[in-house]
Amino acid sequence: MAVRVYLGDLRYNYSGVLANDCMPLGVAYMKAVMDSEDAGREIDSRLFVYAEKLVEAIRAEPPDVLMLSNYVWNEALSHYLFRVAKAVNPRILTVMGGPNISLEPERQLAYLDRNPHLDVYALGEGDFLASHIVRTFMDAGLSIGRLGAIGLPSATFRNPEGHAAIDETKPRHKEVEDVPSPWLTGIQDEFFDGKLAPMIETNRGCPFTCTFCVQGTKYYSKIHHFSVDRIKEEITYIARRIRSHSPNMGTLRIADSNYGMYERDIEISGHIGQMQREYGWPTFIDATTGKNKPERIIKSVEKVSGALVLYQAVQSLDEEVLRKVKREAIKLEAYKALEVHMRGRGLRSVSDLILGLPGETLESHLRGLHSLLDSNIHQMHNFQAMMLKGAELESLESRELFKFDTRFRVLPKNYGVYEGEKVFDVEEIIVGTDTLSFDDYITCRKWHLVSSVFWNDGWFEHIANLARAFGILNSEWWSRMLPAMEGGNAAMRGFLDAFVAETRGELFPTREACVDFYSRQENFERLQNGEIGDNLMYRYRAIASFHIWNDVCDAAMDATRALFEERGVHRRIPDFDAFWKDLHAYTKLLHASGRDRDEILSSDTAELHYDFPAWLASGRLAEPDGFRFPERTRVHFRLTDEGRRELESALAVWSTHIKALSKMVTRIKVDWQVRECVPARTDEAVAA
Ligand code: SF4
Repeated sequence: MAVRVYLGDLRYNYSGVLANDCMPLGVAYMKAVMDSEDAGREIDSRLFVYAEKLVEAIRAEPPDVLMLSNYVWNEALSHYLFRVAKAVNPRILTVMGGPNISLEPERQLAYLDRNPHLDVYALGEGDFLASHIVRTFMDAGLSIGRLGAIGLPSATFRNPEGHAAIDETKPRHKEVEDVPSPWLTGIQDEFFDGKLAPMIETNRGCPFTCTFCVQGTKYYSKIHHFSVDRIKEEITYIARRIRSHSPNMGTLRIADSNYGMYERDIEISGHIGQMQREYGWPTFIDATTGKNKPERIIKSVEKVSGALVLYQAVQSLDEEVLRKVKREAIKLEAYKALEVHMRGRGLRSVSDLILGLPGETLESHLRGLHSLLDSNIHQMHNFQAMMLKGAELESLESRELFKFDTRFRVLPKNYGVYEGEKVFDVEEIIVGTDTLSFDDYITCRKWHLVSSVFWNDGWFEHIANLARAFGILNSEWWSRMLPAMEGGNAAMRGFLDAFVAETRGELFPTREACVDFYSRQENFERLQNGEIGDNLMYRYRAIASFHIWNDVCDAAMDATRALFEERGVHRRIPDFDAFWKDLHAYTKLLHASGRDRDEILSSDTAELHYDFPAWLASGRLAEPDGFRFPERTRVHFRLTDEGRRELESALAVWSTHIKALSKMVTRIKVDWQVRECVPARTDEAVAA
């Protein structure tokens, strides 16, 4: 009888929303290799992504080998499944693999000691190693003890005396083309279920050395490319299958560390553009674009009709911080060149900053935000530095060197109840260093909320542009928004206070304290309701966008008006009061919001004195008077056909619950939520 192997890359699907909606890739490669090396059909392997299905399968048909991935978002879930398997049959070989393990060999050994239900930890890339482990286990007569006596390359395991042993990580397999395609072999077919998004990689590795990232270690420094022909074939295969099996799925994920940085990426993007024309997919490409070679990246972005947003992961704009995290090879000038280029072509650009990196201070972080704003960046994502096991920053030496103050918090939506047991995955983040106090951390988070609400989705882009037309910097405008919330109406103050309280409340001193807290039934129910434990930035952006949009708009417009009056702008715009009143109404109605589907998809009307779309399109922002209607005119605000269709699809995939909306805001295009403003027919014009 064939040896039964279950391979899992597990996602939580308990909260009603998938915590991670990528199709599995790493384990799919492992299965592809296992199948290709198994001419005698001695191995019967199956893939799993949903934990519930795997529990059922383990109970109904226990495997001989259970191999599960270990990422920061599924470590506890994988361990839970290993315990289930061992309880069913202690002879099942349990194997974990993945980047989420500390770099130091002694800590890798200690990991095995802390987890007695785990037999093997596979270190490094697993494509061929997984197959090798299964074959060695077969050679050992399916005996875990004899396997330990034979030993394994690039793994920790227990020797015959039961002590943890290690064979240190072996270099990567150079020929990635030796790994059969999990797409073209049909292995991924079962995951086109309308919920999971396809994820491909065109190459592996990263030439940069950032210490906060696993890919920054020497192990990943060489780039291994899959052939362009294979990538094109895979993309075509996926496009066809999307159309036949999950037509609502618009996303393509590209897992590369630096997509667009290589000449060949232009050809790949061209092929994706062809798929868009033939199959209407993808409408959204989630990829981290490269850090150098701006001219190539721009060509890639331009080939995929707005689906790929330029993603400039700067992480810090402080040279000293970049030096401390070994990221100085990435030149800030390249970002600036890209930014200028993208702006000129009307393309959107996104940037990342990480709070809590070594050497960063409150002042340097705010300077970085201001600098990005004044470079006219479209979006600034603000992340907190995570202690990623497998990255140099997580080593004991780095912790001591930079005096990291770390806390633990549950990963949003990464929890579930399996056969009565509550399981949570928890992340460790940096909330203080020798240069950043905890209070500074909280202050920075408030500014991040400002970016999230008032900048990133461009809801007030035309207002900031107007301010700029009168010599007010983006950063000056943006700096008024935190005071606007602090001194705003009860809804806005409550919004900010709740955010700060949750920012403090989500942090725990230890992993165990975090798990204990959420395990208590009353807290677990609040977690389930989405009251606590969600991604706060997304959640509050969703609240601002859908639930309290009118208050948000009032706060921004009132604060801008006060700034204009301070700078004398109001005297430079004729009939300012009427203009501002209309602009305020226009800005409010432009954005589709609401608490249910019908409200979100609804239309509205207003009577305005100005042709705002024509004024904005003209670029003559300092001269609104030239765009007055001859008489007060009724205008309609309604979603575009594309916006309505895409929002409807997104709401069908997600739902209008705040938990779902907070995930949805990261998946929809900003433009879909913007209503078009169209004058009513002339016979509808009203007397001024
Ligand atoms: S952060 Fe990005 S550039 Fe730096 S090592 Fe990681 S993948 Fe490479």
